[in-house]
Amino acid sequence: YVTLGELFAQTVRKFPKREAIVDIRRNLRLTYEQWDTEVNKLANALLASGVQKGDRVSTFLFNTSELATAFFACAKIGAIFNPLNFRLKAQEVAYILEDAKPKVVLFEKMVQPHVASIQADFPHISFWYINEDTPTYAVNYHERVKIAPSISPQIQVSENDIYAIMYTSGTTGKPKGVMHRHRDMVEQSLICHSIMRIRETERGLVTAPMFHCAELHCCFLPRVHAGATNIILHHFDPKEVLEVIEQEKVTILFAAPTMWNMLLQERLEDYDLSSLRVGLYGAAPMAPVLVKECKERLGIDLIQAYGMTEMGPAVTFLLEDEQFTKAGSAGRPCLNHEIRIVRPREDGPSDPDDVLPPGEVGEILVKGPCMMVGYYNREEATTKAMYKGWYHSGDLGYMDEDGYLYVADRVDDMVISGGENIYPREVEDVLYEHKGVLDVAVLGEPDEKWGEKVIAFVVKKDPNLTTEELEEFCKNSDKLAAYKRPRAYYFVDSLPRNASGKIQKFLLRQRVREAANIIEGELR
Ligand code: AMP
Ligand code: MG
Repeated sequence: YVTLGELFAQTVRKFPKREAIVDIRRNLRLTYEQWDTEVNKLANALLASGVQKGDRVSTFLFNTSELATAFFACAKIGAIFNPLNFRLKAQEVAYILEDAKPKVVLFEKMVQPHVASIQADFPHISFWYINEDTPTYAVNYHERVKIAPSISPQIQVSENDIYAIMYTSGTTGKPKGVMHRHRDMVEQSLICHSIMRIRETERGLVTAPMFHCAELHCCFLPRVHAGATNIILHHFDPKEVLEVIEQEKVTILFAAPTMWNMLLQERLEDYDLSSLRVGLYGAAPMAPVLVKECKERLGIDLIQAYGMTEMGPAVTFLLEDEQFTKAGSAGRPCLNHEIRIVRPREDGPSDPDDVLPPGEVGEILVKGPCMMVGYYNREEATTKAMYKGWYHSGDLGYMDEDGYLYVADRVDDMVISGGENIYPREVEDVLYEHKGVLDVAVLGEPDEKWGEKVIAFVVKKDPNLTTEELEEFCKNSDKLAAYKRPRAYYFVDSLPRNASGKIQKFLLRQRVREAANIIEGELR
């Protein structure tokens, strides 16, 4: 069996001279041989500062070559990699550091103020800074690494050892640390590698956040596995993405639906995008009409992945040629994975044997080789999530007769109006079809008469768009029963999303609750 450290070593031996990393912001290019030296140096520097196998090493970094290097440096010495969301604020980071108790935290300029305000509370953590002008409480990463030996450290690591703890984006509640082993990630890499047919000539753009599993496990890792190139953008900027695709002849990229949508708003005819071979989307629902627009205007085929941090993440794929024949589906389970739709229960975890027939909506349960080992420090939550050996996703969906999965919504986001279940996603998909709509979120609002009513938050593409027009559009749609139609529209400048592109509906709910100044059709 192979650990992530061995996976890396194999690629270095097979493709020493191939380009491994391009860090656009630093203007840095590394072959696999050169990157290996960097990885070894960081691994040795961590060992020298007292990090032992099983200790946590956190990164509080945007997309950088240092994050990529830390990934494999930790793997080589059996340290547990803990990438933090770069959008977190001081107290959110403090919560995770309290829970994960890392020995070392790598951080950068952009997040420096947050670290500055909490570092004094963590005297046992060594903070390593990756930019110039290191603050006094931190050490300089590059100085540490420069003096470290470049030979590969000899630490025994097993495929069963924990490779990482990733705190889930948590659209609800406190974040929980998801633990995965080396073997889980090697399996996930193989699956993604085969689905996307990754070869060493691939040039992948890393623009979605690397701390999140969709980019890190489904894209970055399989490309390293194959000896391909990862071109790293510090963060997502639509114009820069298009420029870099042209300059670097990018062949493949992952973007969350909202990012694809932003790319489509640019002047695409100004760029040569002909190098693109395929794109990946997922992490949140994407309206079929947007997939179609990507095909028509970007000229690329898309593949969809569905999954969750806890699941590795990807567990289903909808392939290029299925995008229109199975529009709206998330595809079929990937190799070695099994999916069941079961009757949801209110009083505890749903029973894996209470399987629903095709077409009926229930909770999505998954079994497969990439499932998490559990939540760090959360035994009870782990037992619940893994009840009877099936991972309980908390997502609602159904299977069609052909075994294709349709993800409806989070259990918590379903709206019940007049006793009818309404899945916001169905309504969102219809509203996206309107040319004047740029972005939309549908949710339920308490209602005296119906229990709940459907409301929609809309970001306009056409400034002249009106509530009446949207009402008329929904009325005329043959995809939307009358009871599913929004009872109110709120026009907003943007929707709150987390770093992986998921709409934070709890923030919208909060805004509805708090807003004393709601004018019908308008919310400020
Ligand atoms: P996270 O673990 O933070 O990536 O969040 C996982 C959640 O994102 C899942 O439970 C789904 O609700 C949602 N999700 C991921 N992929 C898809 C997809 N392809 N379609 C719809 N929702 C998705
Ligand atoms: Mg999550």
